[in-house]
Amino acid sequence: MKVRHILGISGGKDSAALAIYLKDHYPQIPFEFYNSDTKCELLETETLINRLASYLGGITRLVAVEKSPEPTPFDHFYKVYGGYLPSPQARWCTQKMKLEKMEEFVGEAPAISYVGIRGDEDREGYISTKPNIQSIFPFRRNIWSLDVINKLFQNKNIPLLEELCYRICPVEYRNDFLRVVRTPTSKSFYFSKKTNTLLDVSVRTFNRIVFEFLKTTDLPVGRLEDFPLVDNEDVIVKDDVFKILRDSDVGVPAYYDSIPFEVDGKIGYYNRSRSGCYFCFFQQKLEWIWLYEQHPDLFKKAMAYEKDGYTWNQGESLADLIKPERVREIKLDAIRKQEARKASGCRLADNVDDEAFCANCFI
Ligand code: SF4
Repeated sequence: MKVRHILGISGGKDSAALAIYLKDHYPQIPFEFYNSDTKCELLETETLINRLASYLGGITRLVAVEKSPEPTPFDHFYKVYGGYLPSPQARWCTQKMKLEKMEEFVGEAPAISYVGIRGDEDREGYISTKPNIQSIFPFRRNIWSLDVINKLFQNKNIPLLEELCYRICPVEYRNDFLRVVRTPTSKSFYFSKKTNTLLDVSVRTFNRIVFEFLKTTDLPVGRLEDFPLVDNEDVIVKDDVFKILRDSDVGVPAYYDSIPFEVDGKIGYYNRSRSGCYFCFFQQKLEWIWLYEQHPDLFKKAMAYEKDGYTWNQGESLADLIKPERVREIKLDAIRKQEARKASGCRLADNVDDEAFCANCFI
């Protein structure tokens, strides 16, 4: 069965930059770009997706429960769950509106899913529970997912890895590679340490060994004749992402624009740090205030979902959050943090910490 190459466009900067980067660098790979459309995104996100679709030559929009009479998939499932709002602990929204539809889109075909986790992020990406979908992280130094690394470095594979070293390693790296692959994993030499030690010697050689190893498994990458990403040594960090977006003319999503606000003569800035549903419970308090002041209609809609004691934020309703004293407190707190960041040399654009947002939603 033909291996598919899929890339989920979230409407955020990282997946957009990844799509542009891969299309430009690997025109020989038949990428399929898709977006899980929740119908609850900001207009700025929609604008970015439309611009990107023109650049890429199309993005498939996947909509869960398309035939539902409810106005959005969220409203449909909100009803199904009896008004129980999703939360970090009960995240039915991602499962129902994004993951299930994506897995249906892929079906049973082997598929490689390219994920835009950057080289300067310290988190693992979504790994599908379906064995026919394999995630690859082209922006990181280590492009392989945790499940691949865990498989690779099983101690029983040491003889096979030795054999691959003799076959693949250029002479100048061979002894270093052999020394590392022969060292069994243990509490003091765990999987990530082993991986990084080999990557320090040669990224390309490590990737070539993993690729050959994958051919002994059922994983989708192992079914390919050739996988050009094994030769890619680029590590893409946040500044590179902005550059890719600007250079392509797709541009940076408008919700990243820093907007000034004033409290007691002091100036602070706010913006939204990621795409995703306008009511996403992962957003920080300052982002809720941003929504309240920049998109009051959407804030009102988010408030309307708070019923029967269910709230988007634990311990604080949106009605309480927008009381003038509370808004003032949140803004002053943000100004203090931003001034501290500025004093420590951080750039002003990082008004809110984007890593705290809905990481796994952006598959
Ligand atoms: S963006 Fe937030 S609210 Fe929307 S599906 Fe993801 S986790 Fe849920």
